[in-house]
Amino acid sequence: MKKNYRLSPLNLIWLTLLCLAVVGFSLWFNLRSLEQATLQMVNIKGQTVFHLIQTTRLWNARHGGVYVPITDETPANPLLEVDERDIVTPKGIALTMVNPAYMTRQIGELLKGSDVEIHLTSLKPLNENNAADTWERAALIAFENESAKVKYGLVNDHYRYMEPLVAEKPCLECHRKQGYREGDIRGGLSLSFPRADIDGLVSGMKENVKKAHVGLFFSLWILGYLVNLVFLRLKSNLHSAAVKEQQLSNLAMTDDLTGILNRRSLMQAYEQAVSLAERRDWPLAVLMLDIDHFKKINDKHGHLMGDEVLVRFARSVSATLRDSDVMGRYGGEEFLIFMQDEDSHGAFSAAERIRKAVGDMRFEGAAPFSIHVSIGVAERTQLGCASAEELIKAADEALYQAKNNGRNQTCLAEAS
Ligand code: GH3
Ligand code: MG
Ligand code: MG
Repeated sequence: MKKNYRLSPLNLIWLTLLCLAVVGFSLWFNLRSLEQATLQMVNIKGQTVFHLIQTTRLWNARHGGVYVPITDETPANPLLEVDERDIVTPKGIALTMVNPAYMTRQIGELLKGSDVEIHLTSLKPLNENNAADTWERAALIAFENESAKVKYGLVNDHYRYMEPLVAEKPCLECHRKQGYREGDIRGGLSLSFPRADIDGLVSGMKENVKKAHVGLFFSLWILGYLVNLVFLRLKSNLHSAAVKEQQLSNLAMTDDLTGILNRRSLMQAYEQAVSLAERRDWPLAVLMLDIDHFKKINDKHGHLMGDEVLVRFARSVSATLRDSDVMGRYGGEEFLIFMQDEDSHGAFSAAERIRKAVGDMRFEGAAPFSIHVSIGVAERTQLGCASAEELIKAADEALYQAKNNGRNQTCLAEAS
């Protein structure tokens, strides 16, 4: 028979949740790695720009400032208090000195609106334009505490980068008024890159990662589905094999016609029961049953009717027994019952109940008829702890006696 293997709705939900969890974690991990890579790019870009600006500033400082023509964009710096701040060339061109701070501010103006903006800042600014914003202030404090050497991160829609500016000898000339000494942190240079510019570099990668994870989800789901199907099939096959094995073993143990234990398995169970009774010193009763004049039933009502009698006889007798009693077909129309922990008195009563139940059965053959049974009973302790064979022999002899005494009766084997 062809079977339909399907996953239950609950299994499908579990499979989907599991795939979502695995793919979700992988997606989160990959996107996080990309974000960390983005911050590393900000770090590298920041270092490069900072180094460039810092080198320019050092070049200026080493020259003690540079003179440039005074223009509207570059007026004289009122905060610069040095000798010969403003000079006039022999040809009459007015020049003013531009120190590193002024130069940085001017470069900052030029860079405004570009993909990198710079801001010279300090906790004690000479120029109010150099006042630190909240993020810069936190970074400057961290530099002064020496809890950080560089700061970078995403602030609103800009990636920001900042490094401290350390007072070097050429700088002290201008900054003496602020009380700086060589090596002091006298501010910082803060850089900012528009977020869209940097994110644009990895947005394609992020999209690819997302698409790949959608594909991964479906692949995993289908794989999980197939594995589940194979598992279901294996489980079902194993179950069928176990059921078949059980059926075969039942067939080997039972009598084809009546469905009760056959002689071989009956005797195995009997041997074990006698061993147990011997070990525990329990009573054990054996009932040997033989249907009276069964041959006549076959002759009068036919062999099929005889079979039906045997089937109904077995069913009816079984119904009178306790769970612990064991009944089997001993041969043709002979049956054996053994009763564990049952003395001769109890066994005799049970035999009489059986005899009554059998006598009450009615059959519709060539003509309505009923049947009778003769029973021989033997009990091991009453017979001086008889062996398995002795007990059966005694029950058989009691049965013979019942037959001899006129049938349809129970005889108990007595100790000789
Ligand atoms: P008694 O009262 O002395 O026991 O007489 P009886 O006729 O019952 O005993 P006997 O041993 O002479 O006959 C038993 C009969 O049971 C013989 C045999 O054909 C019949 N028989 C044995 N096995 C089966 C079976 O499976 N089906 C049928 N229908 N008859 C069977
Ligand atoms: Mg017989
Ligand atoms: Mg018989």
